[in-house]
Amino acid sequence: MDNRLEEEARAYHAGSKPGKLEIRPTKPHSTQHDLTLAYSPGVAVPCKDIEADPALAYQYTAKGNLVAVISNGTAVLGLGDIGALAGKPVMEGKGLLFKIYAGIDVFDIEVNETDPARFVEVVKAIAPTFGGINLEDIKAPECFEIEERLKRELDIPVMHDDQHGTAIISSAGLLNALRIAGKKIEDVRIVVNGAGASAFSCTKLYESFGARRENILMLDSKGVITTERNDLTEQKRYFATTRTDAHTLAEAVAGADVFVGLSRPDVLTPDMVRTMAANPIVFALANPHPEITYEAATSAREDIIMATGRSDYPNQINNVIGFPYIFRGALDVRARTINEEMKRAATLAIAALAREAVPDEVLRAYGSGQLHFGRDYFIPKPVDPRLIVRVSTAVARAAVESGVAEKPITDWVAYETELLS
Ligand code: NAP
Ligand code: MG
Repeated sequence: MDNRLEEEARAYHAGSKPGKLEIRPTKPHSTQHDLTLAYSPGVAVPCKDIEADPALAYQYTAKGNLVAVISNGTAVLGLGDIGALAGKPVMEGKGLLFKIYAGIDVFDIEVNETDPARFVEVVKAIAPTFGGINLEDIKAPECFEIEERLKRELDIPVMHDDQHGTAIISSAGLLNALRIAGKKIEDVRIVVNGAGASAFSCTKLYESFGARRENILMLDSKGVITTERNDLTEQKRYFATTRTDAHTLAEAVAGADVFVGLSRPDVLTPDMVRTMAANPIVFALANPHPEITYEAATSAREDIIMATGRSDYPNQINNVIGFPYIFRGALDVRARTINEEMKRAATLAIAALAREAVPDEVLRAYGSGQLHFGRDYFIPKPVDPRLIVRVSTAVARAAVESGVAEKPITDWVAYETELLS
């Protein structure tokens, strides 16, 4: 990052008021009587009501629109284990995105605890405050156990966004890229470089859309994950291959249809891309520097179908087109969880949106003349105002249909109108 941007970032965060979020009252509070209602003695009434019927918390408190963004700071952006406090600007930033894109309020909670069992206890203990929990920037493999336990033990939606947000957006991208390539997900050979938090859940979701496990090769820092290896975590073992002729990335990608990088910069060379099958799909998602640069990849192959995590190139895989709307939909039907059906519905809604004509306001906001579904545009832009309606509705509907909604919606037209207001 250049010095000017660094200085600008410091000034932005310090600003007139430190940080990026504040709390504001939503009820009248100017008279003595207002305060009698807001606090003692009036407040005792909703307290007793909620004691008798806990669901009334959604009516009398902010719970139903409040999400916790919770991190222990062990895997912050590409910065690594910088600790709970140093991760706070990221968690506040996530709060800002939840608010501007989906009107959801966030408390960012930085927990100074790396032990998974104790971390789970902390989150469970504070869960009554919230309508949902977004786990953030927690390192693998602890993140798997933490999320699994919280999902099982809490009755509000819990999602580790680094895993599932990425899985949903990249699956939407993959489904569209395969359409452009004219290939079926059941048939393609997929190489996943990286076997961490994001790689595992992305690959699981590809599998649920039809990718065959025997067609997938996953690599970690030691190379192809094979069943011969005895250093594997449970997640790595799940995708271990019995193929023993490929050990390096170069050997793995030869002839492959799809490369998904969730690893580190500059590990995929133009020569490797040249060995891939026709219309190769390359998602180089390491941030901020991809596994291969856009320029290097597109000059290696004219028929490439490419996405990165960056906003300055076509086809950005960015979680912000998912998590605000996924939680919006889940909160609005008071879903008890975020299940596979809801994730799949979000994926399909995002993929379908990219195949529609792009409205002028998106083109203007994006500063682009034209965007048509194809190699240079197969993932919706974050500024697309249609995302909230399409994704939240799809998620809410999937929650209702899969039987996890405490407050099912019946009038979907009214719900869409409400989302737009
Ligand atoms: P993570 O949990 O730390 O996983 C990183 C994985 O990469 C580990 O499995 C590691 O292997 C593997 N790795 C390291 N060097 C490698 C190499 N040379 N070849 C193959 N694998 C290698 O991190 P994460 O959260 O999954 O994120 C990984 C990357 O994806 C980061 O750059 C992140 O910014 C990016 N990402 C992008 C998006 C997006 O939307 N664009 C979303 C999520 C993540 P070991 O297991 O052996 O250590
Ligand atoms: Mg994150």
